[in-house]
Amino acid sequence: MIAEMNLSAKAQHLIDLEDKHGAHNYHPLPVVLEKGEGVFVWDVDGKKYYDFLSAYSAVNQGHCHPKITHTLIEQSQKLALTSRAFYNNVLGEYEKFITSLFGYDKVLPMNTGAEAVETALKIARKWGYEKKGVAENSAKIVVCKGNFHGRTISIISASSDPDARGGFGPYTPGIVSIPYNDTRALAEALKDNSIVGFLVEPIQGEAGVFVPDEGYLKTASEICKAANVLFIADEIQTGIARTGKMLACDHEQVKADILILGKALSGGMYPVSAVLTSDEVMLCIKPGQHGSTYGGNPLGCKVAITAMQVVLDEKLAENAQELGELLRNELRQIQSDRITTVRGKGLLNAIVIKEKDGISAWEVCLKLAENGLLAKPTHGDIIRFAPPLVITKQQILECAAIIKKTIEAL
Ligand SMILES: *Cc1c(COP(=O)(O)O)cnc(C)c1O
Repeated sequence: MIAEMNLSAKAQHLIDLEDKHGAHNYHPLPVVLEKGEGVFVWDVDGKKYYDFLSAYSAVNQGHCHPKITHTLIEQSQKLALTSRAFYNNVLGEYEKFITSLFGYDKVLPMNTGAEAVETALKIARKWGYEKKGVAENSAKIVVCKGNFHGRTISIISASSDPDARGGFGPYTPGIVSIPYNDTRALAEALKDNSIVGFLVEPIQGEAGVFVPDEGYLKTASEICKAANVLFIADEIQTGIARTGKMLACDHEQVKADILILGKALSGGMYPVSAVLTSDEVMLCIKPGQHGSTYGGNPLGCKVAITAMQVVLDEKLAENAQELGELLRNELRQIQSDRITTVRGKGLLNAIVIKEKDGISAWEVCLKLAENGLLAKPTHGDIIRFAPPLVITKQQILECAAIIKKTIEAL
């Protein structure tokens, strides 16, 4: 067994504080961070790490990007929140920017990812009743097994993960679950005329970076079109250049009917999420039927504009594409029977670890942390590698060397 990490008194104290006063709804790696810059984070004892999680792909632009930080400071000193009871001078500018960038008529701004998913489901239902002619209270949404779309009651009702849903019933009705990466199952499910939407992750991130077969998204979107069902892409984790294109759907030239964004939309600076769709679909929502106090606030809007501009200016999609290939190549060359799989797209990657002598993915992550690289296990034996997209070739090679050294030493 690998010993527990040696924690300083300071770090231990901070962990104890969280343990005593906070809910135990997470199981963090025993590392206490206090500073971040670009691809690096530092713990309270000054130890420096490569961040290979990027806050679940929220900090694609790197920690505390100076331009995004500058925007946050500047706008927060001017106007932060008006609510939507009044107009503000930033929202329209942001709406024009984001809809032009992704090619949609309209956007509905929210804050967290889960809220945006909820919003998309509400819009799909409303569209189903008003445009598709589905009978009152009978609309259904198709989802995929192994999905992760957030933590609200309705969303966990769509989950197949016992931890995510167990003990939280009764569940929201109107959800049909089919296997991921299975277009035949989709076609079969869509024979039901009360289906209004198909909610899908282009790559299942939380499930362990499951990349579907090439052509899956294209075929799925065509099946949806033929059945008059909205193709709803949850790109909260895969979007914003993470997989080597601005959107993961772009790899197959698929345009979702409803696009859901969050996480890196604000570069990890402030919660900003968005639902984008056509006039026909979006205008099913009328005043008073949906909203959020913070949704579309000037601070979040300004931050998101800058965060997106950084992605474009610094060519982060191209960088993710190129360095993702390099990283997977390096990982595949590691001589160890401990790694059974290397998979991913762009800089959203994972390895699968074979447990041996009581050393599982968790212990591997502790060792990686010791060696200066932070990653988190998911579902027991999977480790995700998703550094900020501002990482350089030199840094990727250094990180691959850290991973190699760590795994080969097991
Ligand atoms: C993180 C995530 C969410 C939920 O976002 P929150 O901001 O945590 O609510 C939804 N869908 C996907 C694919 C995600 O990765």
